[in-house]
Amino acid sequence: MNNTFSAKCSFCGFKQNVMGATFYCSQCKAFCNENGRLTIVVPEPSIENKLRYDLNILNDKCNRMYFDNTQLTNSLKQIQIDNKKLIGKINELTKKNKSKISTSDEKLVKENEELSKKINVLTKEINELKSKPVVKTVDLAKENNKILKKIDSLTDENNKLKAIDITFPIEEKFDSLPEPTATSPSSFVAIMEGCSKYCSFCVVPYTRGDEVSRKPQQIFDEIARLVEQGTSEIVFVGQNVNSYKQVHNGRALRLSDLIDIASNINGVNRIRFTTSHPLDMTDDLIEIFGSVPQLANQLHLPVQSGSDRILKAMKRNYTADLYRDIIERVRKIRPTIKVTSDFIVGFPGETHAEFMETMQLIEDIQFDSSFSFVYSPRPGTPASILADNTSKQEKKERLNILQARLNEIQRGFGQKMVGSIQRCLVTGISKKRLDQLQARTECNRVINFPFHNISFIGKLVDIKVEEALAYSLLGSLHNLSLIHI
Ligand code: SF4
Repeated sequence: MNNTFSAKCSFCGFKQNVMGATFYCSQCKAFCNENGRLTIVVPEPSIENKLRYDLNILNDKCNRMYFDNTQLTNSLKQIQIDNKKLIGKINELTKKNKSKISTSDEKLVKENEELSKKINVLTKEINELKSKPVVKTVDLAKENNKILKKIDSLTDENNKLKAIDITFPIEEKFDSLPEPTATSPSSFVAIMEGCSKYCSFCVVPYTRGDEVSRKPQQIFDEIARLVEQGTSEIVFVGQNVNSYKQVHNGRALRLSDLIDIASNINGVNRIRFTTSHPLDMTDDLIEIFGSVPQLANQLHLPVQSGSDRILKAMKRNYTADLYRDIIERVRKIRPTIKVTSDFIVGFPGETHAEFMETMQLIEDIQFDSSFSFVYSPRPGTPASILADNTSKQEKKERLNILQARLNEIQRGFGQKMVGSIQRCLVTGISKKRLDQLQARTECNRVINFPFHNISFIGKLVDIKVEEALAYSLLGSLHNLSLIHI
């Protein structure tokens, strides 16, 4: 991964590799800046989703307690059976030889005594379980009922939410965003919030609520203000930006329309969007790569796994072939587009063969860079109670294999770029050398080039790639007369 470093999300605490001082958490999708503060106020999740989340956790606790109890009862039963057998044997032997108990019989008596002790301990434990945890379970069930009642009070007889104010009104939700301030030539613009996909491993729909799309006029006004302050690149952000839907002047708008309209705002030289879901890669969005030159030559499209069975268990609702087909269609329109993605390795029940299907997908797509993690359960999510027999060590090994291959492909792409001319957005002074400026290629790689004139920051320039380093590129300004302001 280019120029990445480890950072912790200040909202959910998730540790991840990030590419810039301001980053978009891959776990809870919060926006954090270099001081670890949220730069965008996170709107409250809907009450209903919060309650459902609490319910899931309570149900999970109840289930676990029930299973604990059963396991203990079963082991007690087994010991009682074994003990009965032993007592039977002792009685038989005692009958045969009433006057004398042999050494081996004494051993049996001792064993019997020990088992009796064990029975006492287990009986005590089971009695405790019968009182305390059962009371606890009852408490949990009570709490559960309270929550169910609350949900009931919020829903009508058809189980539909009543027309009462249980979520932030859209305007209010996005009113809580701070005044837009351009702190760099590239600015995030939130266009939606929340997610309605409910992937089985993800906590976002419960904590951030169902998806809500922001009013288009607010978005356009914000872009105009950012451009006035020197922004050149707009990054549309949200948990699932390509499911954006709104009505503007009587016309239905989707993400492709926002891209099209934003590209006509004077001063917007480059547009990106993140994060997207494969199921929402509609034809209009794929086609917009052919008609809007400002749309960067990069698509971040999380795939998570290359195995259809795992994708189903993750509730991603697409197959690996559907993903391949989307990328093929995008590449028909933009043959040189770079695809980046997210991967989860070691999802509960993932077999070695299923992991190899992910490796095959990596070979087929040839991702430019990616975020990849070992699966870690999030409390209250359906996946968190799935049986998982793969050891941590095995999962770590799979992640290492996957990352090694992704890095190899990425390095290969870097080498192929040497000698090419790249249209880059100058983002600031190089982090390592004051006599160099830093820029980003269309595929979002960091490229440093020797130049002093800071008035170039925010401009699009053509840079010749001279060298591919481990985490960045080194270049030289190609043609001063071709500066794109
Ligand atoms: S699409 Fe799935 S992983 Fe992404 S935010 Fe929504 S629920 Fe979470």
